[in-house]
Amino acid sequence: MNHQQWESLCDGCGRCCLHKLEDEDDGTVYYTRAACELLDIKTCRCTDYENRKRLMPDCIQLNVEQAEYFNWLPETCAYRLLAEGEALPEWHPLITGDADSVIKAGISVRNIAKPDCDPENLFPEIISFSMDLKMDSDEA
Ligand code: SF4
Ligand code: SF4
Repeated sequence: MNHQQWESLCDGCGRCCLHKLEDEDDGTVYYTRAACELLDIKTCRCTDYENRKRLMPDCIQLNVEQAEYFNWLPETCAYRLLAEGEALPEWHPLITGDADSVIKAGISVRNIAKPDCDPENLFPEIISFSMDLKMDSDEA
């Protein structure tokens, strides 16, 4: 798989660009509504993808060698799905040919991501994608 093909697997949901909390005891990862400063909430895209590593040192650059550790990614993420031997979902842009199908399917974070959250107080922002994104789907 070349670089372009690898990048095209990203559906642009923006879920991995939300801040997360990890339970130090059991490693459970909890997603929050709090958006990375570089996330454009409307498009769910990084506003400076080329320079993200320099601007946001915590931003994780996914590569195929890390595939066995992709279980922190959302269950809908193509990188995680493929690492777990699953197929791409029917709403994935590579299947639909429509870059907005991730938004239309209610998978993106457009309607739930929040800017300017207090990084020291993220507990109130914890979300469950299955529940919180239904609103997004209903509005699409
Ligand atoms: S969760 Fe996966 S598919 Fe969604 S933006 Fe992140 S890398 Fe792309
Ligand atoms: S720097 Fe960009 S790609 Fe990385 S988490 Fe933030 S918005 Fe997402």
